[in-house]
Amino acid sequence: MAIYIVLLGPPGVGKGTQAKILAESTELVHISSGDLFRENIGNQTELGKLAKSYMDKGELVPDDVTIAMIRDRIFRPDCKTGAILDGFPRTPPQADELEKMLAEFGGQVDTVLYITAAESILIERTSGRWSCRAQGHIYHQEFNMPKQAGICDYDGSELYHRDDDTAETVAIRIGVYLEQTMPLVEYYRKRGKLVEVNGAQGVEQVTKDLLTALKK
Ligand code: AMP
Repeated sequence: MAIYIVLLGPPGVGKGTQAKILAESTELVHISSGDLFRENIGNQTELGKLAKSYMDKGELVPDDVTIAMIRDRIFRPDCKTGAILDGFPRTPPQADELEKMLAEFGGQVDTVLYITAAESILIERTSGRWSCRAQGHIYHQEFNMPKQAGICDYDGSELYHRDDDTAETVAIRIGVYLEQTMPLVEYYRKRGKLVEVNGAQGVEQVTKDLLTALKK
């Protein structure tokens, strides 16, 4: 049976870090909407150019564009057995569309892992974050350093500081999250799918809690 898991939470709470770990231990595909946009920006596609104009301001990319991109990804054969969705959905219309897409092949959102942390932690994590150019592996200059400065441990690619991880843009992104994404907490709670995990803990403890939540 296919399993679809959504990771929900504010920017910098650890969704990307945890999604990569969970994908490895569950053998499910990791789909990150932010990574897909960044891939398009790197390849200078039309979608990338459009997405960048929103991302640089800390705003959400319009629903229709985002939904079409995820649809294209989720209908590939490697998602037939399930996926871990990181950063999508981010609005109620995206959540509605996700349900419809998954229903087309008999699936549904099984569990929503809602990761939380105080705003001061989100700012600390995003301001010290380094991301890998090739595959989006995530590091932190204090809490999770690469073995060699500036180089990804996994694929040897360059580490860079995301344009939208500046203090100013992160503050906007947190505001956008509170306004446009927070309604999904109630959306999924009402449907009995929400499990809340304390993301203020260290990486390993958060992973343990997420895996415990999934086993239930
Ligand atoms: P992330 O890598 O998840 O932090 O996303 C980086 C940026 O990509 C966000 O600030 C948005 O501009 C855009 N983005 C990612 N996912 C979505 C989404 N589901 N809907 C709209 N915009 C998104």
